[in-house]
Amino acid sequence: MLNSPTMDQFGELPPLPSYKLAPLPSLLAPIPDKLLTLLLPIVAYWGLSMFFHWIDTKDYFPQYRLHTPAEVAKRNRVSRWEVVRDVVIQQVVQTAVGWVLGMTEPDDFFGKEEYDVAVWARRIRIAERAIPGLLATIGLDAIGLAKNLTPSYPMLAGALMGGQYPSTDSLKGLEMSSQPTALGFAAWELHLAWALYWVLVPMLQFGVAILVVDTWQYFLHRAMHMNKWLYTTFHSRHHRLYVPYAYGALYNHPFEGFLLDTLGASIAYKLAGMNTRQGMVFFAGSTIKTVDDHCGYALPWDPLQHITSNNAGYHDVHHQSWGIKTNFSQPFFTFWDRTLGTVWTGGDVSARYERTRLGAQKALEKDEVSPITSSKPTDSIDQNPKPYQNDLRDATDLPSIPIKNRQPQPPAGKAELQAAGSRQQILDDKKDGGPNVLADESYEEKEAINSVRRSPRKRTTSTLSAKDSFKGLRDRVTGSMHGRTGGIIGVDSSR
Ligand SMILES: [Zn+2]
Ligand SMILES: [Zn+2]
Repeated sequence: MLNSPTMDQFGELPPLPSYKLAPLPSLLAPIPDKLLTLLLPIVAYWGLSMFFHWIDTKDYFPQYRLHTPAEVAKRNRVSRWEVVRDVVIQQVVQTAVGWVLGMTEPDDFFGKEEYDVAVWARRIRIAERAIPGLLATIGLDAIGLAKNLTPSYPMLAGALMGGQYPSTDSLKGLEMSSQPTALGFAAWELHLAWALYWVLVPMLQFGVAILVVDTWQYFLHRAMHMNKWLYTTFHSRHHRLYVPYAYGALYNHPFEGFLLDTLGASIAYKLAGMNTRQGMVFFAGSTIKTVDDHCGYALPWDPLQHITSNNAGYHDVHHQSWGIKTNFSQPFFTFWDRTLGTVWTGGDVSARYERTRLGAQKALEKDEVSPITSSKPTDSIDQNPKPYQNDLRDATDLPSIPIKNRQPQPPAGKAELQAAGSRQQILDDKKDGGPNVLADESYEEKEAINSVRRSPRKRTTSTLSAKDSFKGLRDRVTGSMHGRTGGIIGVDSSR
């Protein structure tokens, strides 16, 4: 019968190295790291926003636009100047809160890294003590096995014996890699400890922070849409942007901006136990993600559009009158929407989009275009109607809404309920919504769809680039807007 060794048999744990702490120098001297943590998100926000604004102004990627410039100008219920002003207000609040948060954080030091890695190595060593016992449960004699392995594989033998490694003296003549390190740990123990300390634990911290911020934002954001008072008092402000653009990402009611974005990110940072530099990456990273989700483009070479299915197309659905009560998840993953049944299910309605309209035109020229939403045509019928089961019953009867242009009908089933609930949200919002919003949207959709139908069928793709075809489309769209020409976000349609 095999006896597993007792704790005493394992001997002493290797000693921990001594360390000397020194203040961590600033990443970008003379700016202190804590200040840089507050500045980076603002720099990232306006830097990325200006990049997208430049693309917009120069009209470099019309084929990837979600909406026409005409829509941006006509459908939004807020001027660009007001957007900038309110974003700056939110950023001032965010910086002030961050400053207070920074004061509660200890100062950053360095010099303890080797010690911390050794602490992890000790934890690994302690965990190894379970190996002989675990192997015994499947009838393996770990100690006997280790004795046979010691001459050729001393490190493996040491692990099998529960972390008892031969002394350096007894290993003379062996390669350096099979000898214990200066700290008294096996090399593999220190390598694993290094990976845990520098890679795995930080990744876990980012995972926790992302989960916390996504959860925080989902439930509060959803509440803002499900409760009429919350929506019309606070959240409708963000939805004055029916056609989002990059720097509209943080255009919010100041209270909402504080509650959802600032507080959410701060709580995530604290719960994940991040240090200042991790905070830098997390705050700047989530800011960049939010801007990218509002950029108005489905750029194929933008990595942020592909890392998760929560991207500009996904969030754009949430800004449309038919999808406003769907796709609440932000900024990273769509986990909560999918789990709680709030993903938009009428994917084929994305035919309303500029890019898909261009796609229809390109399809005539035998050019492939990928869809904006990942929603399948069968989703609307297949998925549980919850939480929209009462939305059609509670919605204003469509023929009684005083609008001239009727929107295309979403597919039957869940999407129909989602669209009815969403439309009702717009109608209930007397100040920033109302039937005019629906009318404008329908008008733009119909105009663009008609203009695609009117466009001549081209046989050769080389003579009609995507840009040319967009220009023609844009001219028709802008031209039909009560004679308005050019000047839309700097785009000159008479060019
Ligand atoms: Zn919303
Ligand atoms: Zn938004």
